[in-house]
Amino acid sequence: MTVPVFRFAPSPNGHLHLGHAYSALLNYRSALATGGRFLFRVEDIDTVRCTPELERDMLEDLAWLGLTWEMPVLRQSENFSAYEDALQKLEGMGLTYRAYLTRAEIKRFVAERESAGASWPRDPDGAPHYPGDGAVLSDEERRRRVDADAPFAVRLDMRRALKRVREPVTWRECTAEMPSSPAGPEWFEARGIRADPAAWGDVTLARKDTPTSYHLSVVVDDAGQGVTDVLRGEDLYHATSVHRVLQMLLALPEPRYRHHRLILDDDGRKLAKSNRSTSVRDLRNSGVQIPDIQERLGISSTV
Ligand code: GLU
Repeated sequence: MTVPVFRFAPSPNGHLHLGHAYSALLNYRSALATGGRFLFRVEDIDTVRCTPELERDMLEDLAWLGLTWEMPVLRQSENFSAYEDALQKLEGMGLTYRAYLTRAEIKRFVAERESAGASWPRDPDGAPHYPGDGAVLSDEERRRRVDADAPFAVRLDMRRALKRVREPVTWRECTAEMPSSPAGPEWFEARGIRADPAAWGDVTLARKDTPTSYHLSVVVDDAGQGVTDVLRGEDLYHATSVHRVLQMLLALPEPRYRHHRLILDDDGRKLAKSNRSTSVRDLRNSGVQIPDIQERLGISSTV
């Protein structure tokens, strides 16, 4: 019987807010309730916005909330070579290409299309699908950028990737709110979800100066750390389609998933890291106690 492995994997580009606290507590309590393990992973591939100070503050806030986690902590900024290996595998399979269009060029292309009355596909996050360099640049300009070693993104050729995968892409989504007792891995009741990776178009896997992306590093690390249960916010629900394709292409194990509700602010908006009224640190400094936070999150004070 495998021991469930849960993880909380924030990006330290701001302070821990109530949404993080909710996710961290659900993961921690699920690990406790199932006799599983709880890992903390630092998703700091953006080495400019993520700082050691913010990471230290996050760890401090989590410890204040009563959480403990296994050491050593995996820091993605120290694991770039693992992502490069995965990227090379995908490149070796002929499933990637270099994309030289800038964001502004993509935006302009799509705006022109749309103002001419044509629709252009957008991914579940609202970003337009990549049109392809050939749709925007002349052959000469494309050659010039390649020769000048201009900045590029490495994108997954989704159509080819799906041809390669062949079978329908699916995942198992847990339907239980939370394991309520030490029930072992059988606590998991799942519903099969049909993924829709084509809705994402050719996702970015890396950039010239960053050898990975969120999608690539998350699947590499979940597999590398033996994560069995990915319990995260429902804002990442659709991203699971991309993660499953990458797992299938890279022959990585399939974790179980559960996407929990998001904690919203008083106006019903998703919490932002810049919002001081929901930062755990600011609440703490203003004298708020852990039971107040549990009440605000709608979770019980005991596991
Ligand atoms: N690092 C991501 C975030 O902070 C979460 C990654 C995940 O749970 O898959 O939103």
